[in-house]
Amino acid sequence: MKRRKILKLSSGALIALPACSSKKGDGGSKIGKHGASSSGYGGHPVRLGANTQYRPPAYMNKGLRNPNMNLPSHFSGKSVTHSRGLSNQPYVAMTFDDGPHPQNTPRLLDILRTRNIKATFYVIGSNVDRYPHIVRRIVAEGHEIGNHTYTHRKLTALSNSELRREMRRTEDAIVRAAAVKPRTMRPPYGALLQRQRSLIFSDFTYPTIMWSVDPNDWKRPGPSVVRSRILRGAHNGAIILAHDLHAPTIDAMPGTFDDLLSKGYQFITVSQLLALKGQV
Ligand SMILES: [Zn+2]
Repeated sequence: MKRRKILKLSSGALIALPACSSKKGDGGSKIGKHGASSSGYGGHPVRLGANTQYRPPAYMNKGLRNPNMNLPSHFSGKSVTHSRGLSNQPYVAMTFDDGPHPQNTPRLLDILRTRNIKATFYVIGSNVDRYPHIVRRIVAEGHEIGNHTYTHRKLTALSNSELRREMRRTEDAIVRAAAVKPRTMRPPYGALLQRQRSLIFSDFTYPTIMWSVDPNDWKRPGPSVVRSRILRGAHNGAIILAHDLHAPTIDAMPGTFDDLLSKGYQFITVSQLLALKGQV
């Protein structure tokens, strides 16, 4: 058994070093004159070899980040329904429905934050009341909140007063949780009559936001399918539909975001996309 040297650190801890058999000047770097000890352990220099085993985490390797998008978000157009933005700029809006979810939404927020991406969350009012702290975090991190009704019922079967109540209860829950008012709505299942869209627009000033890219992630086709469907469908001005209710959707997002960023797309919120459209 080889004899080991004992190094005493300034903290008082002791560490064992392998017995050094190298000759002076064989390529190892030395600690300077006043370092731990250039003539240290029995006169042998301390060698500091490169740590060839270290690999930085994958997300640091890629380092893809959305630029800071300082765009206006005030819109005042006349259109009651939107499903896409302008096609002459590489902007896309990522939208997530049906949250907040106690595990998936915070995980998604972490993924968004490392890439400086701002998204739009169409939240269900009853979930807002259950997890108001997550809604606060969504807003604090610069994302947008939209109204996705309180009970997630199919709205086409509702009376006008029931419809107003779905919108109102959700708006109140969002204001209570995060002190912001939603500016747009998305109907559950995309189902909303034209006259209902007009009623919501006039009573709440919410345009109805549909989408132009749908990966059908709620059918759980698997993260790689969700990712490839979004990449294949992406276009300038896209409004992309996804659900932060489903864990596999969140699994798909790091790769999806990096794909879109590397294609040159930049992420903005739905209101920013509408503001760019101007008076339409
Ligand atoms: Zn929904």
